[in-house]
Amino acid sequence: MNRFELELTGKKFLNDNTAHLNFRIISPEKYSFQAGQFLRLHFQQNDQEVFRSYSIATIFPQEHCVLEDISMAVSWVEGGLATGVLSSLEHGQSVPASGPFGRFCLPDTDFKRYFLIATGTGVTPYRAMLNELELRLQKGAEVYVVMGAQRQNGLLYEQDFLKMAGQYPGFNYVACLSREQREEPTNYDQSGYVQQYLQSIEFNEDSDITFLCGNPDMIDEAFALLKEKGLPVAQIRREKYISPKPRPVRA
Ligand SMILES: Cc1cc2nc3c(=O)[nH]c(=O)nc-3n(C[C@H](O)[C@H](O)[C@H](O)COP(=O)(O)OP(=O)(O)OC[C@H]3O[C@@H](n4cnc5c(N)ncnc54)[C@H](O)[C@@H]3O)c2cc1C
Repeated sequence: MNRFELELTGKKFLNDNTAHLNFRIISPEKYSFQAGQFLRLHFQQNDQEVFRSYSIATIFPQEHCVLEDISMAVSWVEGGLATGVLSSLEHGQSVPASGPFGRFCLPDTDFKRYFLIATGTGVTPYRAMLNELELRLQKGAEVYVVMGAQRQNGLLYEQDFLKMAGQYPGFNYVACLSREQREEPTNYDQSGYVQQYLQSIEFNEDSDITFLCGNPDMIDEAFALLKEKGLPVAQIRREKYISPKPRPVRA
């Protein structure tokens, strides 16, 4: 496991509850990452080492690459340990981290349609994959980013996805708003949860692949739905945003 320090170099608010944080990786070594992976930040609590995971939000220049700077989107959780540390972190201060982790990455094999489904900060792995997705679009694939949020301000990184949709007819961005619609609705808005949108799609078990990321309840419900619709489990990739258990602090 690679351990390093992440030094805060920038912070920008994406909405009143979510910050886009930029870090420099402080380490004598350079590490290679893959779009879709996550890092763990390390904290201490009651003599225990505690981790919190964060997906890499950086748009990767290519699918695998050495990164010296890394960004992530963090939603504040009331009373949260990581929230407390990260929300008060100043430029130049650092947090211990490790990684990369995870296999929530695009497969080597090509599919005809990619459904990338998210709620909240769960959309960040798809932002990381944008350049790799572009290569697949150029080969004729279709991409659907299906983003769920309660209201418009939860549609994180929407402009990045709309930019790609403007360049490629095969790239579709769908905004599922469950509580409050936009003042000026768009033709890519859907009312309701992402599950309702997925219900309306006819999936092809031979040529579609789906990714689910974010809220665990959404993932469980969407997973059951996609399975019911006939997609093989291997074509329903999942990344649930839950906190791992603490463990004793390393000597
Ligand atoms: C693989 C992976 C990737 C992840 N990527 C991201 C990411 O990119 N961005 C991001 O913001 N988070 C991400 N998470 C979640 C993140 O690791 C933390 O769980 C989250 O930031 C809360 O940490 P905390 O220490 O502030 O709160 P905690 O101290 O863990 O929790 C404080 C209280 O809030 C509750 N709580 C925890 N999370 C939530 C929530 N989401 N909504 C409501 N209540 C909650 C807890 O049950 C607890 O009662 C990811 C998790 C995993 C497993």
